[in-house]
Amino acid sequence: MATDKSQYLSDKVRNMSESATIKMAGMARAMKAEGKDVISLSLGEPDFDTPQHIKDAAKQALDDGYTKYTPVPGLIELREAIVTKFKRDNNLEFTTDEIVVSNGAKQSIANICLALLNPGDEVIIFAPYWVSYSEIVKFAGGTPVSLHADISADFKVSAKQLDQAINPKTKAILFSSPCNPTGSVYTKDELEELVDVIDKYDDLFIISDEIYEHINFTEAHASIGTFDKVKDQTITVNGMSKGFAMTGWRLGYMGAPKWIADACKKVQGQFTSGATAFGQKAAAHALSSDLRPTLEMKAAYLKRKTLVKSLLDDIPGIVANDPKGAFYFFADISYYFGKTDGVFTITDANSFCEIILQQAHVAAVTGSAFGDDNCFRISYASSEEVLTEALTRIKTCLAKFA
Ligand code: PMP
Ligand code: GLU
Repeated sequence: MATDKSQYLSDKVRNMSESATIKMAGMARAMKAEGKDVISLSLGEPDFDTPQHIKDAAKQALDDGYTKYTPVPGLIELREAIVTKFKRDNNLEFTTDEIVVSNGAKQSIANICLALLNPGDEVIIFAPYWVSYSEIVKFAGGTPVSLHADISADFKVSAKQLDQAINPKTKAILFSSPCNPTGSVYTKDELEELVDVIDKYDDLFIISDEIYEHINFTEAHASIGTFDKVKDQTITVNGMSKGFAMTGWRLGYMGAPKWIADACKKVQGQFTSGATAFGQKAAAHALSSDLRPTLEMKAAYLKRKTLVKSLLDDIPGIVANDPKGAFYFFADISYYFGKTDGVFTITDANSFCEIILQQAHVAAVTGSAFGDDNCFRISYASSEEVLTEALTRIKTCLAKFA
C-alpha cells in the first residue's frame, strides 16, 4: 500500500502553495476531459496564436542551426533588441550587460528574489497581487508583506500607504502595472509619488513587473525606472508571453543595474542556463518588428473588456472596476457571502468559485489567491461568444442564491 511520504519533502516546498491559477486551469481541463462543457476563464493566457512572422523566425532559426546552448543571459542579438525596445517604448537606458533573458518573466522574478533576499528581508507586495509573487519571495528566503488597496482606490496603493509600510527590514517593493489581477494601471504621476517615498532609501529595490505593458488602454505606459532618482534601484521585468501571445515559448527578460544582472546570471547559470536558442531568435525578431499584431490583439481585448463590464454590471451584487489594462476583471462578490440556494451556501470567494465551477461550469480564480478575499478573477482573453456564454451562466447560477 502506498504510504504518504510527503513529510520527507523540504519545509520550503511543503510551505509553498500551489499556483491557484494553474490549479484551477487543471481542474477545468480535467472536467472537460470527463465530457463536461466547462468554460475556463481561469488562466491568464492570450487566446490568440503567436503571430505568423514570429513563428517563421523561429523556423528559420532552427534551419540556421540555433539549436545549441546560448550565453546564459541570452543571445547578444536578443539583448540588443531588448536594449532598443526599452529605449524606444519605455525611455529606459540599459546596456546589453544589464539584460538577462530567462525562461519566462516568472524565472526573471525568481532570479531577482534569489539574488537579493536574505532571511528576514521583507518584500512589500502591492495587493491584490499576482499569485506567484508571495510564493517566490518565500522560497527565496524573504518575507512577503502585502500592502492592500481595495476597489474603492481602484486597487492602487498610495504613496502615503507605502511610506507607512516601509521599515528597516524592507528590502524590495514588488508590483505589476498594468496589474494582474486588477487591471489597474499606475499613471506617471502616481509612480512619481511612490518614487518620492522610495528615494529616501538607497537600500530599497523596486521590482517593476511590466509584462502587460502592451495591453494598456490608457494613453501611455509609464515605467518607474525612468525616474532618475530610483533608476539605480529599479529592476524592470518584461516578457513575450502576453503582448506577443507567446506564453508557451517561455521567454521573459529583465533590465537591471549590472551588479544585479550579474547575480541573476550566476543564479540562472546554475539552475537552467540560457533560454531556448531558436525562441530567442524569434523574440529578437518580434521585438524589432512592427507592433501591428500586438495592437490588433489589444483592440480585441478592449472590445471584450467593454462587453464583460456590461455583463458583470448586469449581475446583481457584483461590483467591478473599469480595468485600464491587462485582460482581467477582479470583481467584488462579497454581496453573495452567506447566500444559499437551499443546498449550498456561498461562504467566501473560494466557495463562490467552487459553486460557479460545479453549477455553471465556469472556471475562475478565487481572490484569496491574489490577497483579496472579497473578489474573484476572470480572464477575458477569450472570444466574445465564449465570454457572453460564461457570464450568462454565472448570472443564471447566482440568481438562485438569496
Ligand atoms: N507577471 C505577471 C503579472 C503575470 O501575470 C505573469 C503571467 N504568468 C508573469 C509575470 C509570468 O509570465 P511568463 O513567465 O509567462 O513570462
Ligand atoms: N499569469 C497567468 C495568470 O495569472 C498565467 C498563469 C500563471 O503563470 O500563473 O493566470
